[in-house]
Amino acid sequence: MSSEGEIKRKINEECGLFGIWGHPESVRLTYYGMHSLQHRGQDGAGIVAKKGNELIRSRGIGLLTEAFTKDMLSELNGTAAIGHVLYATKDTRGSAAVQPLLFHFENSALAVCHNGSIVNATSLRSKLEEYGSIFQTSCVAEILAHLIKRWRQLTFFERVKRSLAQVHGGFAFLLMTQHEMYAARDSRGLRPLVIGKLGESYVIASETCALDVVGATYIRDVAPGEIVTINDDGIKSDFFASDRSLHVCGMEYIYIARPDSDIEGVNVHTSRKNAGKILWRESPTSADVVIGSPDTGISAAIGYAEAANIPYEIGLIRNRYVGRTFIAPEQHMREMGVKMKLSAVRSIVDGKSVVLVEDSIVRGTTVRYISALLREAGAREVHMKIASPLYRYPCYYGIDTPSPRELIAHKRSAADITKEVGVDSLDFISTEGLAEAVGRNLCMACFNGDYPTHLQDFARVEEGQGL
Ligand code: AMP
Ligand code: SF4
Repeated sequence: MSSEGEIKRKINEECGLFGIWGHPESVRLTYYGMHSLQHRGQDGAGIVAKKGNELIRSRGIGLLTEAFTKDMLSELNGTAAIGHVLYATKDTRGSAAVQPLLFHFENSALAVCHNGSIVNATSLRSKLEEYGSIFQTSCVAEILAHLIKRWRQLTFFERVKRSLAQVHGGFAFLLMTQHEMYAARDSRGLRPLVIGKLGESYVIASETCALDVVGATYIRDVAPGEIVTINDDGIKSDFFASDRSLHVCGMEYIYIARPDSDIEGVNVHTSRKNAGKILWRESPTSADVVIGSPDTGISAAIGYAEAANIPYEIGLIRNRYVGRTFIAPEQHMREMGVKMKLSAVRSIVDGKSVVLVEDSIVRGTTVRYISALLREAGAREVHMKIASPLYRYPCYYGIDTPSPRELIAHKRSAADITKEVGVDSLDFISTEGLAEAVGRNLCMACFNGDYPTHLQDFARVEEGQGL
C-alpha cells in the first residue's frame, strides 16, 4: 500500500488525445492532430492503428518528432487510429507509460489512452490486485482496461460503460477495439474533449485546434458523463454517469489549452483577453507600458492594455526552442528552464513603469525571475497582474501540482507574496472575475478549495495536510 505522499504524487497526468475512425489516412491525420496538441504533453507519444482486423502500435519517448521516425510512421497505417501525447510525472516516466496502452484478451485487442486523473485510483487498483490483476504501469488507462476485463457476460459496450461508471475524477478517455472507438468525458466535464467530422469520418480530440489542423469540422463537445461510440455505422451517444454537471477546469482556459481552441463554445484567447479587461476593472494600475508574459500571459495583457488605454508592447521574448518550464519535474531544472526561456527587451522597458500580465503563479519561480529580468533591463516600476486567482489548493483532476506546501499562495494573501516575488504591486483576478471572463461554469477548486467531486482516496491526504 502506498504512503499518502505517494498517493498524491502518483496519478496526475495532463495529456492530449486524438482519434479518427474510417479514413484511409488515419495515421497521418492522427500524427498531425497530435502535433497540434503537443503543448499538452512533451514526454512521450504513441499511436495505435487499426489495420484490417488487427491493432498495431508505435510509440516513443519525447516530443512527437523525437518519438516517431519517418520509418515508424510509414510502417504504421490503417483505417482508424488513436494517438496520445504524454505529460509524464515522477511515476509515469519511461516507455512503458507511453500511451495508448494495448491489451490483448479474449481473442480481441483493446487500446486505451486518457487525459486527467481519477480520485479513486488507489482503491480501485488495490481491489483489482486483490482479484488477481497485475499492473505494468501506474496509468489510469490500465486501471480502466482491468475493470473492463473483469465484467463478463455483457456486451463490450456495456463493459466499457460500467467500468467508466466506477472511475471518478477529471478525465477524458479514448478507447479502440478492432470494431469501434469509444470517447468518454468525466461527469463534471473537467477535462475537455470534442467531436469533429472530416468527410464521412468522425474525429475526437482534446482540443478544437486539432480538428482545425486536420481540416475537420467541429460538431460538439462530448458532454459530461457521456460515452460516444464510433464505428462503421456512424456515431452513437449514451451516458455512463447519472449525476452530471459542467465544471470545466478553469486552468484549461487560463493556461493549458491553446488560444485558438474553443472549449464549450468559448474561445480560449477571448476568455484570456476578457480576464485582462476585468483585471483592469478590478485593480487599475496606470503605467507607461503593458507587457505580457509569453506565451500564455499575452492575450490577457492585450485585454488589460485595451481596457486601460495604455500601449501594449513586446517586452519579453521567449526562446521558442525551450519546452514549458513547469514540465521539468525538479525545482532546480525548472529554474534553469525559466532562465533559458525568457529575455527582456531593454529598449521597451528601460526607465519605464511597466504592468506585467502573467497567466498564473504556482510556485513563484517564473514571476520572481521575470521581475528581476525587467529590473535588470531598467524597468523603473514593475506592477504584476495575474489573470487567475491565487493558486492555493492542489488539483486532483490531472493538473500536476503535487504539494500544497510548494504553492506560494497556499494559506497566504497577495500582500504576503508581493515582496517575495520582487514587484511593486501584485494583483490577482477574483474568482467572480474569472467566471465572468469565461462565461461557463468552471471548476476553480485550486483557487477556492471547492472541489466539484468527492475526493475519495485523497480525502485523508487533505486532512493530513491541514488544508
Ligand atoms: P511557477 O513558476 O511555479 O509560479 O509556475 C507558473 C508558471 O507556470 C506560469 O507562468 C504558467 O504559465 C505556468 N503554469 C501554470 N500552471 C501550470 C501547470 N499546471 N502546468 C504547467 N505550467 C503551468
Ligand atoms: Fe483545473 Fe484547478 Fe479544477 Fe484542477 S482544481 S481541474 S487545475 S480548475
